[in-house]
Amino acid sequence: MKALDELTFDNRFARLGDAFSTHVLPEPLDAPRLVVASTAAMALLDLDPAVAETPVFAELFGGHKLWAEAEPRAMVYSGHQFGGYTPQLGDGRGLLLGEVYNEAGEHWDLHLKGAGMTPYSRMGDGRAVLRSSIREFLASEALHALGIPSSRALCVIGSDTPVWREKQERGAMVLRMAHSHIRFGHFEYFYYTKKPEQQAELAEHVLNLHYPECREQPEPYLAMFREIVERNAELIAKWQAYGFCHGVMNTDNMSILGITFDFGPFAFLDDFDAHFICNHSDHEGRYSFSNQVPIGQWNLSALAQALTPFISVDALKEALGLYLPLYQANYLDLMRRRLGLTTAEDDDQKLVERLLKLMQNSGVDYTLFFRRLGDESAALAVTRLRDDFVDLAGFDAWAEQYKARVARDGDYSEEQRRARMHAVNPLYILRNYLAQNAIVAAESGDYSEVRRLHEVLSKPFEEQAGMEQYAQRPPDWGKHLEISCSS
Ligand code: AMP
Ligand code: MG
Repeated sequence: MKALDELTFDNRFARLGDAFSTHVLPEPLDAPRLVVASTAAMALLDLDPAVAETPVFAELFGGHKLWAEAEPRAMVYSGHQFGGYTPQLGDGRGLLLGEVYNEAGEHWDLHLKGAGMTPYSRMGDGRAVLRSSIREFLASEALHALGIPSSRALCVIGSDTPVWREKQERGAMVLRMAHSHIRFGHFEYFYYTKKPEQQAELAEHVLNLHYPECREQPEPYLAMFREIVERNAELIAKWQAYGFCHGVMNTDNMSILGITFDFGPFAFLDDFDAHFICNHSDHEGRYSFSNQVPIGQWNLSALAQALTPFISVDALKEALGLYLPLYQANYLDLMRRRLGLTTAEDDDQKLVERLLKLMQNSGVDYTLFFRRLGDESAALAVTRLRDDFVDLAGFDAWAEQYKARVARDGDYSEEQRRARMHAVNPLYILRNYLAQNAIVAAESGDYSEVRRLHEVLSKPFEEQAGMEQYAQRPPDWGKHLEISCSS
């Protein structure tokens, strides 16, 4: 276990130099204080959990203090936003404080979001509000607990610093961790500004640090791109299987590592709705729930375009062709598991599609349906779940097919079925209204709810005593919350 001053830095991205990032110091928050910390994320840095409660913790992650070995940098990138190219973006309010490596030799970027203005702030104030910082913290850690690759969050630091959005709010910082903060947009920036040498330097950096096994391949860059395609197909399959809607899949928000990244107006589905749009500025539904699948491919094509100086167009196209079949295979595999099936049959895709259509038409809670389906034998479970559906004849027909499918699947005890299904079907997800309750309390200075919610979501598959209220459908007020895009 380490104390805060024992972290070991190795700032590999900073060493790439000024073409890639700019040295900027964090702008301190007034009266910084700990809102919430993740002991699981602290463990990744070998940090003693007790240090979160010390004043120096809030000072370090509230922009007041810095390790001597930290080299805070604002990274430059660009990207396609809602389909149109924006030539210059960058860390407008976040800083890569440095890269730390733990005792296992893993490097973690420490990235402080809400750290003040940088050369890339454009019209922004460089700040993040408490509301959005809490949402990012909870979502990163909740996704990780669900087994969905994501950036991590170490802590949220609150403050008295006034920040203007639609109304006056308070500034906060979230300390984000990832093995890299390099986005698709980094490659696009050097491609569209016609800086091939720097682009090659960036590609070498990513290859050496994050895809070293691709070095062994005849065409290392192509192998790396293929790997990025595969990781994204797997990631988006998980989002779709668990009902996660990212909301702003611009290429500057896509990680080169294939992890969930840059949280804005995201949401987990309550009722199943394939057309759900969680971002209220997304009038055309470009980033609707079901569109995440083709958008994943669109974004990979944008990255492919940026890689044309290194890889032939034909090879890039072939690699892009891996995306959809791989997505489908991963998605179907997850959905089979969510249905408690251990074998594969040709008609399983149809079984899933029919169920989702029925859920869509009846507004059935996506998370609770699967959880309850595993509570008891298939026959008993479908009888109990029947009342949630409007189209009873349709559901009965599906239930018959499902029971027959389960009977063909194998001979297992009810206990085995329950254990297997509960291990993949969470009871607790980050519903918008739960986050909202925690935010309202935190805005009035009470951080107990955000801490409790974080705890509950860190074990999403385990039924926790006294936590029934976190496993409920939203109350009426919480069903269609408008999550502000300003953050
Ligand atoms: P986002 O929509 O959060 O992914 O951000 C898009 C771009 O706007 C990125 O370059 C951000 O760094 C920048 N940005 C967002 N909010 C702010 C802010 N409050 N101040 C400065 N830059 C910001
Ligand atoms: Mg972003």
